[in-house]
Amino acid sequence: MDAVLSTCVYCGCGCGCYLHVQEGRVVGSSPSRNHPVSRNNICLKGWHLHEMVHSPDRLTSPLVRKGGRLVKAGWEEALDRAASGLKKCMTKHGSEALGVLSSAKCTNEENFLIQKLTRAVLGTNNIDHCARL
Ligand code: SF4
Repeated sequence: MDAVLSTCVYCGCGCGCYLHVQEGRVVGSSPSRNHPVSRNNICLKGWHLHEMVHSPDRLTSPLVRKGGRLVKAGWEEALDRAASGLKKCMTKHGSEALGVLSSAKCTNEENFLIQKLTRAVLGTNNIDHCARL
């Protein structure tokens, strides 16, 4: 079994961990002893990090709603649909009708850009984040 040094993606702490790979599949995770942030510790989410890699529930492409059902779509179509939906809502109800939920799985820099987009482009302070542990 191989142990590949990686970073946990479940929150912004970015703990160092090893992903254990067997026959091309990620089968386990464990803390990195020397990581400067986590120093041989990971939380429960980190111990279960490997479970999402091959999960059949993992979202691997954008989904758009068609005829009341969510169906797979390309990024261009999904982004066009999102942009037109946001524009329609802004035009009809104003910026305060919008809200943005960001993700702990983004980097700090990506989250910074999302709040900039929300405040400077969409014109609202309605933004929140799921990084609370
Ligand atoms: S979810 Fe847990 S293990 Fe993963 S980065 Fe955050 S604190 Fe570390």
